[in-house]
Amino acid sequence: RTVYVNGDYLPEDAARVSIFDRGFLMADAVYEVVSVLDGRLLDFDGHMARLDRSLDALAIANPLSHDDYLAAHRELVDRNAITDGLVYLQVTRGNPGDRDFAYPPEDTPPTVVMFTQAKPGLADAPAARTGWKVVGVEDLRWGRRDIKTVQLLYPSMAKMEARARGADDAWLTEAGHVTEGTSNNAYIVRGGVIVTRELSRDILHGITRAAVLRFAREAQMTVEERPFTIAEAQQADEAFVTSASAFVMPVVEIDGKKVGDGTVGPVATRLREIYLEESRKAAI
Ligand code: PMP
Repeated sequence: RTVYVNGDYLPEDAARVSIFDRGFLMADAVYEVVSVLDGRLLDFDGHMARLDRSLDALAIANPLSHDDYLAAHRELVDRNAITDGLVYLQVTRGNPGDRDFAYPPEDTPPTVVMFTQAKPGLADAPAARTGWKVVGVEDLRWGRRDIKTVQLLYPSMAKMEARARGADDAWLTEAGHVTEGTSNNAYIVRGGVIVTRELSRDILHGITRAAVLRFAREAQMTVEERPFTIAEAQQADEAFVTSASAFVMPVVEIDGKKVGDGTVGPVATRLREIYLEESRKAAI
């Protein structure tokens, strides 16, 4: 694989980042994941807008323009012959040359790395036909989940707990309500109404969430943005999650209880179709 590090395109084995980089020592870094279908980038502008928000929230100056990122994404897709897959992008506060809690001087250059992952058949994941099983796990992450940082240890722990309990993913719960999945936003459907938690510092503002809610409203579906419990989700007609790489993924079982009849429902199916069709059309 060819990867990108601070302006250079290198074989992955030749790529180097300092051990003093704050991304490595402090998880002082943000990231984005853009999906690639048919060699084109999905929702690229949305991901760039969120990258700016994450960097602003941490007072890291964005070292590159959106056009620079676009050119680098395209270069990596090209050099690695990615048809279906993703581009991962990470920006860290850089290398102060030593370890210190205080931020380094503002002229310390951020570190930018990007790499691709090939995922042949990404849009035809068999799991979309059978749906995921999820289990509730207490949400013990920090209080700024709206910033897309690389502090992903707790979500990894929750994912492993889900696996150990025979599920595909965890739905994180706080004060009795679902916040989101380990790497996706969570939804239920009841009586034709789509319910998902409102945006706040408690969840990541999903780029796929924004697109899917827009398509749902354009298709005259009703959307309610409010928290819901695991018990309410178990009683729902349907459930699903959204993310840049899973698109719209149906959820058919929650804490061992079938949602509806335990098969993939019509709303999730339709939203997945609309999302894939519309985002392919708008892909760049
Ligand atoms: N929530 C969390 C915690 C995530 O990690 C992700 C994936 N980045 C999402 C939601 C979904 O966001 P997006 O649709 O932008 O991929």
